[in-house]
Amino acid sequence: MKLNSKRLLDTFVQLVQIDSESFTEKKIQEFVSKELKKIGCRVMVDKAGSKFDTNARGNVLGFLPGTVASQPFVLVAHLDTVRPGRGVKPQVKKDCVTSDGTTILGADDKAGVAIILEVLRVLQEQKIPHPPVEVLFTLCEERGMYGSKNLDYRKLKGREGLILDNEEVGELLIQGPRVNDIKVEVIGLAAHAGVCPEKGISALEVAAYALSHIKLGRIDKETVANFGVVQGGQVTNIVMDRCTLLGEARSLSDRKLDIQTAQMKRAFEQAVKHFTRRIDGRVCKPKINFSVSTRYAAVCVSKSHPIVSSVLAAAKRLHLPLRLASSGGGCDANVLSGLGFTLPNLGVGVRDCHTVKEKLILKEFYAAFELVLSTVTAYRKK
Ligand SMILES: [Zn+2]
Repeated sequence: MKLNSKRLLDTFVQLVQIDSESFTEKKIQEFVSKELKKIGCRVMVDKAGSKFDTNARGNVLGFLPGTVASQPFVLVAHLDTVRPGRGVKPQVKKDCVTSDGTTILGADDKAGVAIILEVLRVLQEQKIPHPPVEVLFTLCEERGMYGSKNLDYRKLKGREGLILDNEEVGELLIQGPRVNDIKVEVIGLAAHAGVCPEKGISALEVAAYALSHIKLGRIDKETVANFGVVQGGQVTNIVMDRCTLLGEARSLSDRKLDIQTAQMKRAFEQAVKHFTRRIDGRVCKPKINFSVSTRYAAVCVSKSHPIVSSVLAAAKRLHLPLRLASSGGGCDANVLSGLGFTLPNLGVGVRDCHTVKEKLILKEFYAAFELVLSTVTAYRKK
């Protein structure tokens, strides 16, 4: 297998010059569809784009038939970038690529997209025996994973492979948290704070009492919790009758997340009890609306999963150090994991993503390409 580093870099440079901030992925969706066809893939664009406000039609799915019998290997990257991502002027230096400092570079995740395209080209050109490969390029990962959330995933036959959307090439993410979004509405009782405060129940005090009984921040190695938004009140002379808190809890363990979320709910229920009292002869109690919704599923790939072993084996063949790690954030891997996919997330050589200092380290970029090619080539699953 020969690495055509010039073509890989050219593809990357071409991709980052196609504007594709989230919700405006039309041009890049069309570009990668064309490239996949040129390579010899069957291409399908799903209708995800009609489910949210983007100018693109949908996620791009590419199918390269295998030359050996196996389940397909799935390769995933996202097409959108964060802002400011328009008019990127890539500066190719000796050992890295940066933007001109006024925009992001967009290596997150176009380095992944470029690697996938080059892997397919090399498999075809060099007639390397390989399993079927299924490619998924998603829309709008950066602003809520709307592409993968609306993916027509039944079109894909494979259920395992790699996501290329991590920074350092030496790191394979195999765990990521499930996240619960939590909204708490506290309803107290308004009263004139100067004339008769004893006739009111302060929603803020109820919330504060509950919060003082909740463990927040880092709960343990796998679990964190936070309230990041508090809204309520209008003027200083009214006992606050209503406040809303927005928070979240994350854990790598579903069980621990359930326990933490339940504990948070219980604290508010206890606060209700604590603040229930008689006012003017009748029992008044604050009310709580505690709602929980799962933002995305956890990623939990076992260290001994064949996909992980095969990436580790490929790294060994290439003399690349590779460590298994967990992430505190979420990406397409979480959403796809919830749909039944096993997709560890491999780094592609990016640094400082989501900033105008974003950089692609070429040595790592090329190494990631070789690692992916070697893993895909060796993959066999009946
Ligand atoms: Zn990304």
